[in-house]
Amino acid sequence: MAEPTQHAAILPGATIGILGGGQLGRMTAMAARSMGYDVHVLDPDPNCAARVVASRTITAPFSDADAAAELARGCDVVTLEIEQIGRHALDAAAAHAPLHPSADAVYIIQDRVRQKRWLAEQGFPVGPFREADSTEAIAGAVADFGASIAKACHGGYDGRGQVRLAEASAAESAWAALGQRPCLVEQRVDIAVELSVLVARRPSGEMVAYPPSRNHHTNGILTWSVIPAELPEAVVRAAEQLAPAIAERLGVCGLLAVELFFTTDGRLLVNELAPRPHNTYHHSERACATSQFEQLVRAVCNLPLGAPHVIEPGAIVNLLGDVWLHDVAPDIPFALGVAGSRLHLYGKGDARHGRKMGHLSTVGETAQEAIGRALASYRRLSPESAVAAGLAGPPPALRSADGALLAELAAVDRGDAAPWQGPDDSDPDREDVG
Ligand code: ATP
Ligand code: MG
Repeated sequence: MAEPTQHAAILPGATIGILGGGQLGRMTAMAARSMGYDVHVLDPDPNCAARVVASRTITAPFSDADAAAELARGCDVVTLEIEQIGRHALDAAAAHAPLHPSADAVYIIQDRVRQKRWLAEQGFPVGPFREADSTEAIAGAVADFGASIAKACHGGYDGRGQVRLAEASAAESAWAALGQRPCLVEQRVDIAVELSVLVARRPSGEMVAYPPSRNHHTNGILTWSVIPAELPEAVVRAAEQLAPAIAERLGVCGLLAVELFFTTDGRLLVNELAPRPHNTYHHSERACATSQFEQLVRAVCNLPLGAPHVIEPGAIVNLLGDVWLHDVAPDIPFALGVAGSRLHLYGKGDARHGRKMGHLSTVGETAQEAIGRALASYRRLSPESAVAAGLAGPPPALRSADGALLAELAAVDRGDAAPWQGPDDSDPDREDVG
């Protein structure tokens, strides 16, 4: 296989290797396939979500350097959908094919302490944090910070590997709950709204940033996202400047998602980075001129990047395994009766609590309409899950009179917005059933 020079495009017909075969790998593989590329994946699970799209699936742990080298030998370029790939495996892949993002960038990101330290050293805005590797160190941080979150350095995602502490006396049980692993202790900041910005960058240096997505989490797991974020212009501008600056400094090729907190006292802080497609941009498949999955393919193949702008407001609601674990089965036909709604399932056979199984996406004339439809569709799919996830109420008001905006956002994100008043059969979306 000819080694591409740094600025040569990798053209359709070539093979893209993906480290990780979960839903992000699957959707990337679908985009690659539709552009005429072949796809190979590596994943520890032989039944991983991407296996049905890839022409070859290598089953091996993410620490297996030989398997990563084997993947890369059969591919023209390698990318990843998960950052928890062993350093030796990243280096082994990079020895046989271009690896985007680079092993160095992924290495900084894959350890929470290393990542936060790097962000702070580079002068990017982050909340107060401390490294800890003992009960005493955790207790000391909490004594200084007040309410805190301890996050294991490695292996946490979707709120796993995290413990919330209200006071220093909880340090011992937190240290035990984290498996006595080194961790990052962060002060719990008062969040008005969570947002993210996805950046794409290719080897030529070309870079584009998507407009911010507004995101809502429940128990540390993403519940819904909407684009455009409908935030004050100054916040949007600041986020759109910050995220590309981080991508540039890290030298990321491919995608970089920057998760941000906008605090009730008006600060924009970086929560964390992800060097891959991101759950908060699943709406880009429908809402943006170029989906994040196509964009990743274009970026790692050094093709001109696609336009990131919003062509139609869009939203998603995540479907966790819980939806399939109630006595009543999810009502898919009823959910899809909501105008603009679409079902995305990842082909995971085994529904488990908290496991991401799919999402519902919607579009609308406004972001407000899109999120309203997404939540209406979700309530129809599984009323029990909607109640459990705190989504049985009215959709949040994304925009309101300027003065009230921040207070309202804070109330919504604390979950103490006004309860839903209307009876279910007055739901205007019922008209949409065809
Ligand atoms: P994901 O995989 O969904 O991105 P994660 O497991 O990597 O999540 P974080 O992004 O660190 O974990 O945290 C998950 C959520 O917990 C955040 O989106 C936010 O809602 C909340 N959270 C995390 N850190 C803080 C903090 N310092 N202060 C307040 N809330 C926080
Ligand atoms: Mg996160």
